[in-house]
Amino acid sequence: MRQGHGRPAIYRNHPTGMNGSRKVHIKSFGCQMNVYDSHRMADTLAPAGFAETAAPEDADLVILNTCHIREKAAEKVYSELGRIRVLKQAAARQGRRVVVAVAGCVAQAEGEEIIRRAPAVDLVVGPQSYHRLPDLLVRVGRGEAVIDTEFPLEDKFELLAPPSRAATRARGVSAFVTVQEGCDKFCTFCVVPYTRGAELSRPVANIVAEVERLADAGVREVTLIGQNVNAYHGEGPHGRPWPLGRLLHRVAEVPGIARLRYTTSHPRDMEPSLIAAHRELPSLMPYLHLPVQSGSDRVLAAMNRRHTRADYLDTIARMRAARHDMAFSSDFIVGFPGESEEDFGATLALVEEVGYAGAFSFKYSPRPGTPAAEMAAQVPDGVKSERLYRLQAAIDKHQAAFNARCVGRTLDVLFEKPGRHPGQLVGRSPYLQPVQVMAAPSMIGEIAAVTITEISANSLFGALAPVPAHGQAAALASEASGQRGNSKVRAHSASEDARERADDTRPEPGSSAHAALASEASGQRGNSKVRAPDTRPEPGSSAHAALAEVEG
Ligand code: SAM
Ligand code: SF4
Repeated sequence: MRQGHGRPAIYRNHPTGMNGSRKVHIKSFGCQMNVYDSHRMADTLAPAGFAETAAPEDADLVILNTCHIREKAAEKVYSELGRIRVLKQAAARQGRRVVVAVAGCVAQAEGEEIIRRAPAVDLVVGPQSYHRLPDLLVRVGRGEAVIDTEFPLEDKFELLAPPSRAATRARGVSAFVTVQEGCDKFCTFCVVPYTRGAELSRPVANIVAEVERLADAGVREVTLIGQNVNAYHGEGPHGRPWPLGRLLHRVAEVPGIARLRYTTSHPRDMEPSLIAAHRELPSLMPYLHLPVQSGSDRVLAAMNRRHTRADYLDTIARMRAARHDMAFSSDFIVGFPGESEEDFGATLALVEEVGYAGAFSFKYSPRPGTPAAEMAAQVPDGVKSERLYRLQAAIDKHQAAFNARCVGRTLDVLFEKPGRHPGQLVGRSPYLQPVQVMAAPSMIGEIAAVTITEISANSLFGALAPVPAHGQAAALASEASGQRGNSKVRAHSASEDARERADDTRPEPGSSAHAALASEASGQRGNSKVRAPDTRPEPGSSAHAALAEVEG
């Protein structure tokens, strides 16, 4: 049974309603869990007659799916609600009612306070109640202002409607699947255990069924997600819990799924069968987001991270022993209460030692109700900013070196969508780097060997590798990229390659068009190579130019 660490639901009346026209605009803030939840909300509203619209001004229902992880993220919601209120008033002048809903972790944490601060809001719904949305909207239509932040007993995942085939296709060839939700770790800085509740793992059979549906609609890459995904312990077919490594083996068997990833992992839960899965499964990508937060044991203990610096480095070493081409990214918090210059130096030293391919870094943000917010020795903001700047410079250096080492290598690229320029596609390398390639649109959804020719701040550029003698492109590509063979890799004929390269309209590196292109490509997903907005260095710095915005 699901336990909540959250607050009870509160219901009260409010005179509003909806007029039965059916367009929904959903805006997601924050992590991939919210992206997944937004899709599932859209899927659940579809049978009730709601079609998705990208234009909030056309919508009859606007849902903000919010993030509470840092103060800035939460405050963004209120500025967005200010804009939505103007839209709602404009619609009302035309005799049209717009219903405004706040979902996600701000909804869970702040409940009725949201309606107090933003009276334009009609519905506040916590992450555990999305399956109730159609019913909640009926109540809103009857004139109630509805607040549902309960942790219900029923399994919302099985009550949320699955996506239609058309919706899945529209979302692209790479999909997230939530396998685990909530967290029992209680890091002293973090609100997640309070907003998402206790750890819950979905049963293996339900996850496999969802992945099969996705694969059937053309999805090639699946990222298993959870707040603490490697704490996964869902029920297996015979009633016993399976660890994540075993689940990955099972999902890898689903026909059509060529690539697997999982995020976000806690260092403490990198158990042997999960590490072994990286050695055993060619489709499991050699790139792991493994947040460490700090390189100082003193700070790690104060954060209640339950691992030391040495434990973390040992895990990295075991991963590299399992698969030599592993690369890593991480999350860091600077300016945690009591962090000294020496502690921060240990974090910088860890960055040097691991040599991350990318990382997110954040200034510590006190969150109401968490133990760290009450700790003495809060670090002044100026010190946090200065440390963040130095940390990012170190991370940038390693990211640039990692990208530079890709030039001349042949990497498998999963093509996701057209690029900005005619004839161009954008795909992802095994390391989640966006790769721009001249290639036929029919290759969307294909994995092909690409020789990397140049890099920009956020993107790689490459050419389809010609088919070698005896059709061994896939094997050679895998070898060149340090991977084992992947039968799903598509080789490309030399003639196709020549035809498509002739059409190369890519701008010169260093030009503003080139930078824009890179930024667009890297802004596709909030994962890995780009940092959240509050980690950005000062405008005008070279590091600043390298960054792309990913948070909503
Ligand atoms: N479960 C993951 C783990 O333990 O590594 C992290 C999930 S959390 C949603 C994403 C990241 O937000 C964290 O890794 C941490 O770096 C950052 N974060 C969480 N709380 C924060 C806070 N109060 N201030 C600044 N950053 C925070
Ligand atoms: Fe938050 Fe991650 Fe710690 Fe859980 S393990 S409390 S989600 S930082």
